[in-house]
Amino acid sequence: MPALLIKNPSQIASPRVGSIRGPELSELNIRTGDSIYVVDGVIDAIAPLAELENRAQVDNAEILDASNRAVVPGFVDCHTHLIFSGNRADEFAMRTAGATYEDIAAQGGGIARTVNATREASKSELKELARQRLHRAVRQGTTTMEVKTGYGLDPATEFKMLEVIAELNEEHPVDLIPTFLGAHSVPKSMSKEDYITQVREMLPEVAQIAKFCDVFCERGYFTPAESYVILEDARNQGMLPRMHANQFHSVGCIEAAVDLEAVSVDHLEVLMPDEVARLSETNIACVMLPGVSLFLDIPFAPAREVIDTGCIPVLASDFNPGSNMSLSLQLVMSLACMRMNVAVPEALACVTQNAAHALRLDRVGCIEKDWQADLVVLDCADYREMPYFYGENHAYAVIKKGVVV
Ligand SMILES: [Zn+2]
Repeated sequence: MPALLIKNPSQIASPRVGSIRGPELSELNIRTGDSIYVVDGVIDAIAPLAELENRAQVDNAEILDASNRAVVPGFVDCHTHLIFSGNRADEFAMRTAGATYEDIAAQGGGIARTVNATREASKSELKELARQRLHRAVRQGTTTMEVKTGYGLDPATEFKMLEVIAELNEEHPVDLIPTFLGAHSVPKSMSKEDYITQVREMLPEVAQIAKFCDVFCERGYFTPAESYVILEDARNQGMLPRMHANQFHSVGCIEAAVDLEAVSVDHLEVLMPDEVARLSETNIACVMLPGVSLFLDIPFAPAREVIDTGCIPVLASDFNPGSNMSLSLQLVMSLACMRMNVAVPEALACVTQNAAHALRLDRVGCIEKDWQADLVVLDCADYREMPYFYGENHAYAVIKKGVVV
């Protein structure tokens, strides 16, 4: 792999290293006058161009002219449902024409439709659909993505989804991190009790493949007690627990997640002050998903309280066919700034370093020497233009492990 010189960017904007909380979220490291030198996929030096030019010549390095362009870390999308079959654009159109959720479900729509289509799809069909979506994501600056199962709700399809994630991870430059979400919903053909037993029986084999185990903890889905049992089992098998929590109701999921020492709680649209306080005393990442609030017209998570109370805030897409058909973390940043009172530097930290923390990734999410060279060269001189000039893709070049993709 040739070395890469990213020459003369107007600005290199990176969050601080570590899981960032409170005022430190706004304290970005903004360098001007430096270029970036990458060797073997790793940032080897950040220094004035004069100090790097000779080396670049000797190494016959590739040169990327970044004049008048800002460089930020590659975006980490730590919550997606990338893999599914079944286009639901018709349901979206029905909704815009006045149909209710119940109307759509009565015509066989909703999650059941996605589950059926995903069960029927072959592995190669699923992989091709996901690959096309992945291309869209990387074009918009996403260089690492967590991907959940959960549209199979039976062992054959859940394992098929895990295989698709593993194969795509091999074939595509974006790093994919697998999460088992068997407990996404209860299949129509089974009692909840039987399904929970089936999910738990899958865990030893799943743990060989998936890094995380997730549960949809919510009224009408899995209770905090049921979620706890599944996630405790998963942890004993070597997976890290995380939880879809507090999307529509506060029913005790946060308490269960704290007791489990989960790595993240995701959604949090309905979050009580005592729950925020509880989370602030932990290392649990608070993953907020503003695209869902936009798409479903539900409240946004209380990001200001989450940040000001000292929790670890994270932003992600929750890309999925039912509640957010968008892979754009640039749009997520804009929504956080415009609708959740998140400051621009905070928003950047939430989709880079803190998102990498939520996935327990090492040396990803910052622009520092010896860190993985996952970078986005923007089409603007100041990174703050990105959330401000919204609805546009501002990625001029996306670099994954030192290669322009
Ligand atoms: Zn989700």
